[in-house]
Amino acid sequence: MSDSPRIYIGCHLSVTDGYEAMGKTMLSFGGNTFAFFTRNPRGGKSKELSLEDAAALRELLAREHFGPLVAHGSYTMNLCSANEQTRENAKDMLQKDLERMELLPGSYYNFHPGSHTGQGTEAGIAQIAQALGASLTPQMQTTVLLETMAGNGSEVGGRFEELREIIDRCERREKLGVCFDTCHVWDAGYDLVGDLDGVLTEFDRVIGLERLRAVHFNDSKNERGSRKDRHEKLGEGQLGLEALRRIALHPALSSLPFILETPNDDAGYIREIHTVLGWLD
Ligand code: FE
Ligand code: FE
Ligand code: ZN
Repeated sequence: MSDSPRIYIGCHLSVTDGYEAMGKTMLSFGGNTFAFFTRNPRGGKSKELSLEDAAALRELLAREHFGPLVAHGSYTMNLCSANEQTRENAKDMLQKDLERMELLPGSYYNFHPGSHTGQGTEAGIAQIAQALGASLTPQMQTTVLLETMAGNGSEVGGRFEELREIIDRCERREKLGVCFDTCHVWDAGYDLVGDLDGVLTEFDRVIGLERLRAVHFNDSKNERGSRKDRHEKLGEGQLGLEALRRIALHPALSSLPFILETPNDDAGYIREIHTVLGWLD
């Protein structure tokens, strides 16, 4: 029988000490996947990563039966800014990030679709799809995930329809998937507490559940529909532990990597990882 785990759970880790160190840290936390920023999330710099270090991590991931990793693009990467220089910088970041991701074949690269900064959602969608079409290649081994957003300000991706349209307009849509952020989806107005099945049916109708590849597993500080995007620790927010448990155990989601982006220190992440693993018993 397969000894692969029934759920993949982990949190964001810092890449400061390199690739293999992240794998070792997650092992010590009791998890079996993780996320990391491909570069400083607020700035633009990326660490030089050694081939040897990446190979050591690949070996650890295989040996320990980790689920796919979910790397995160920089928050400053805005493919649909009204500012042309910002857009060009974003395309450059995307391209370089994707080149580096090939060191970890089979991983996911998640990013925030972007903020249209006044150009309108339609124009934003067109720019995002165009930039993706230019950066994705037929031979790449990474799947690029569009993150569901809270719809804060001029953010694109607060409605499932917007993500669908980006995918439809992109020339290499076979390389695209979606990352489902529970805090964002709730803040965008979808009722994950009262009608989880309804939300997933809607996701399936609009995007298709086969595109759903990863979950950002967060509680939310705010009411449904607030569009605020403030993450909370599991069970301490508006979603609550019961609804989060139903999400983690839902058959449409339960084989995906679940990444905690909750406001925690290491001890808090370890506790949450064990809470989620405990739901399987
Ligand atoms: Fe994110
Ligand atoms: Fe997220
Ligand atoms: Zn968020």
